[in-house]
Amino acid sequence: MTELEPRYRIMRAADDAHFHTCFYCGCIATESDFAPPRDHWYAFADHQQAADNLQVPACKECLTLLKGCTMGLLLQRRDVVQARLANKYKQAINVYLRWNPDEVAELDRSLKHSIVAGLTLGEEAHRRSRYPGYAYELEGSRIEVAQLQPQPVRVFGERFDSLKAALVYASRTYGIKQGQLAEGLAKHNHNLDAVILAFQQQQQQQLSEREINRHCAAFAKQHGQSRRYVVNAVHRYLDRDDTLTVTEALDKLYQERIQHFLKST
Ligand SMILES: [Zn+2]
Repeated sequence: MTELEPRYRIMRAADDAHFHTCFYCGCIATESDFAPPRDHWYAFADHQQAADNLQVPACKECLTLLKGCTMGLLLQRRDVVQARLANKYKQAINVYLRWNPDEVAELDRSLKHSIVAGLTLGEEAHRRSRYPGYAYELEGSRIEVAQLQPQPVRVFGERFDSLKAALVYASRTYGIKQGQLAEGLAKHNHNLDAVILAFQQQQQQQLSEREINRHCAAFAKQHGQSRRYVVNAVHRYLDRDDTLTVTEALDKLYQERIQHFLKST
């Protein structure tokens, strides 16, 4: 640890379990961070800005991440570390959120190896970037740090303690790749239900598109028409009246266009 700094109070973990633990990420602490940074101490004092004046157990990586951060409060600095950790390990965290064990098991060996490595790193980074800190002792009194309550994630009423657990469940239950679910989150305001609904709607659309094509192809063949002409015509009927079924649209097409054409030749 860095030597004592008279302007700062040393922050000590209140519980044994957190001795020598980085307050910001939960790794082993080998360094000290200062809130506010030592070269900004006078600026804070001069302007009477809120500062904790704490010497904080931290790990090397968190110190590096805090470079350039001039904030004076412990929890502000924790939030900066969390955001920077999440950003630094964005890719690994994505791998962690996107892949589930079932999918990984099906991969070939070399890909499996790199995904598993990414998963491990991503899981660790995910945990560190949400580390809440711990209760500490200051001049004889215990100071609690509000623990972040895991925000429950819901999938159609089913409750999960973590996003990852919700993604694994949704992927298995609705047969959608975990990666596609994770990708959809940004588009749908982090609402997993909306992602699943949008995906099902898309599947339904693809299904009915296939159905339309199949019917049209049969119709075109039967009446010696171009398939493309029939498909386009059916789409025009369906656009005009969405209560029509494909068969009804084809009937209309037959009555309004094909029948006359066939008679006149
Ligand atoms: Zn750390």
